[in-house]
Amino acid sequence: MKNNTKLIHGYNAFDEMTGASSIPIYQCSTFKQISIEVGQPYTYSRFGNPTRTALEKAVASMEDAEYGTAFASGMGAISAVLLSFKQGDHLVMCKSIYGGTFQLVNEALERFGIEVTFVDETNLSAWEKAIQPNTRALYLETPSNPLLSVTDIAGVVAIAKEYKLATIMDNTFMTPQFQKPLAMGVDVVIHSATKFINGHSDVVAGIVVTNDEAWHNKIFLQQKVLGGILGVEDCWLTMRGLKTMGLRMEQSAKSAQIISEMLENHPVVKKVNYPGLPSHPGYAVQQKQATSGGAVLSFELENQEAVFAFSHALKIPIVAVSLGGVESILSYPVTMSHACVAKAEREKQGVTDGLLRLSVGIEDTEDLLADLEQALAAVKVAVKVPVER
Ligand SMILES: *Cc1c(COP(=O)(O)O)cnc(C)c1O
Repeated sequence: MKNNTKLIHGYNAFDEMTGASSIPIYQCSTFKQISIEVGQPYTYSRFGNPTRTALEKAVASMEDAEYGTAFASGMGAISAVLLSFKQGDHLVMCKSIYGGTFQLVNEALERFGIEVTFVDETNLSAWEKAIQPNTRALYLETPSNPLLSVTDIAGVVAIAKEYKLATIMDNTFMTPQFQKPLAMGVDVVIHSATKFINGHSDVVAGIVVTNDEAWHNKIFLQQKVLGGILGVEDCWLTMRGLKTMGLRMEQSAKSAQIISEMLENHPVVKKVNYPGLPSHPGYAVQQKQATSGGAVLSFELENQEAVFAFSHALKIPIVAVSLGGVESILSYPVTMSHACVAKAEREKQGVTDGLLRLSVGIEDTEDLLADLEQALAAVKVAVKVPVER
């Protein structure tokens, strides 16, 4: 079964009891038991709820995974996974990591004595060099945010296997539509389902999927005892959103590719970061491990003045944090995701005053292109001579 068929039929998408064409919302905290003597599959909604189970199975099926666990947010999912390590454990993580994960590591895990080393994710030998006797796992996220750097998944997995370490990966940017880390040997995959999986900017949700029973048992326990479960209505909305993930991703990624090519050739754009462009340093690796460059790109204008002129002129994309919605979303890391990072530090990371991130929605490509072009025309500082193509 291919992805779009699987999104509709590849799991229990219909209610077995009534035939209802969508899984009902089981709005209950507890379940009347058949008798006091015998157990039954559902007893209390924190432990399990049929609506949540349906979503967990649906996302798991898209990742070709055995198990899924749904959390109240992507951060809830990441916390549950990382808090399954113990005092004295060490993890190696890519340095270009989601801001919330970075804060979790530095402000919470540290208090529990779980130590993390950050490495340049594009350099495989840096991953290997960071391994210590107490290292338990390698944690990656590719492509990264907001610079879209690409990590070689198979390369990191090979190192992990050699040292008998687990691999954990945040697959939010690509989704299982474009990238399947479990098939490449990753042990645990995490999604902020808030983004492309739900896809409509109306739910905050997280999902963990795995094929490893021991890992699943740990994560299931965390879901139960930390208690950060996803509410049933949000489970239902996420399932509804998931059904069109394939169509949305294909449209958004097609536009992202065309927009990146236009930006790369535009005289006021200094640099474009999109792993679907042959000029991207991670292009070859991306081609090997994913079927698309995805729906998120970032680009650099000359300075903040150019950014303001551009964003004031832009009409279609909404200016907001987050990504992965049906609507295009323009974010400015300097005042949004990286507002708390000191200027010198963020510039060292490549987050300059001219950097903008665009999450491409499902609007018509021609309309997006025309809008971006007219907004770029409002930018007066040309930084390069256009390249002949
Ligand atoms: C948004 C995001 C998260 C956090 O997810 P929430 O649902 O906001 O908690 C984690 N990783 C990546 C890559 C994200 O984009």
